[in-house]
Amino acid sequence: MSDDFRVTVNPRERVKLIESRLDEVDRLAMPCRLCGRQCRADRGQGEGYCRSPELARGSIRWAAAVPHHGEEPMLVGSGGSGTIFFSGCSLLCGYCQNWQISHERDGQDTDPEVLAEVMLRLQRQGAENLNLVTPTHWMPGILRALRRSFEKGLNLPLVYNTNGYDSVELIQLLDGIVDIWLPDFKHWDPESSRYCARAANYPEVARQAIRIMWRQSGPLVVEKGRAVRGMIIRHLVLPEYLSGSYDFLLWLADEGMQSCCLSLMSQYAPHYRAVGDPKLGRPITEKEYYDVVDFAEKLGFEHVLVQEMSSSSHYVPDFRKEKPFDDRARVDQNIKP
Ligand code: SF4
Repeated sequence: MSDDFRVTVNPRERVKLIESRLDEVDRLAMPCRLCGRQCRADRGQGEGYCRSPELARGSIRWAAAVPHHGEEPMLVGSGGSGTIFFSGCSLLCGYCQNWQISHERDGQDTDPEVLAEVMLRLQRQGAENLNLVTPTHWMPGILRALRRSFEKGLNLPLVYNTNGYDSVELIQLLDGIVDIWLPDFKHWDPESSRYCARAANYPEVARQAIRIMWRQSGPLVVEKGRAVRGMIIRHLVLPEYLSGSYDFLLWLADEGMQSCCLSLMSQYAPHYRAVGDPKLGRPITEKEYYDVVDFAEKLGFEHVLVQEMSSSSHYVPDFRKEKPFDDRARVDQNIKP
């Protein structure tokens, strides 16, 4: 790892960092510019495009908090990744496998104090890290919960697991607080992104987000099989707009990111509004997926995580069940360890 990249700060310093940034994050939410949608809703008074309840209530809505074994192996370790799934979403892709909590916003409202206890409970359960899933639109409240949990002994690597639709300002304010950036790059061009998520500016926003995250953290650092800092980029191969997967890999290579940890996901299956859709209404084929994997290898990517084709059948959660996830661990292979 290059000396240019910052080392993880200790919990006390992290508390100070959070305190020094809270006002600015609050300002970013009123009017709201937390995500790339930049809908400028007054989150002190009401909801924005993401339809998350106003922040003035002081609550954060989340749907599940579990040590999860379906994430990338270096996040799972032996104890599982301490995932907290937040409700609502700034992007709202029509095919979302988590539609129950993203579109329909299933979940419970809690205040930061209670959320801090949830974080500490995951640590007591042996989770390897704290993995915030789709946190962008809740960051003012989440930061308050993190401050409390770090004060009370939270000492896990912090994973920011995002759709990539984060504003530059927010990512900069999280520098030094987040240990592992986990952006998901979804749509390469404005046309596909408008079709899938009514967000023509998503590709540009997500590319810029990945650039800045990479500058902050650099390659993934794994110690004793567990990720401790750096970045993992996820990309879900879609049945339509396949050329976007190739363009994305070419772009990463042009940006000099071949040493990034790249998680290529095969698990796409039509959910929610994609059921019966003429473009998105089918899973991808084995050939479509492995052609993308081969292309990544040819471009010289050094750490590519490859999923089994059966993944779509057992990584899809049901948040209306007491246990939303299949307990099976995710099976990946590294084409270049
Ligand atoms: S996080 Fe929600 S309210 Fe804020 S800009 Fe994005 S869509 Fe609008």
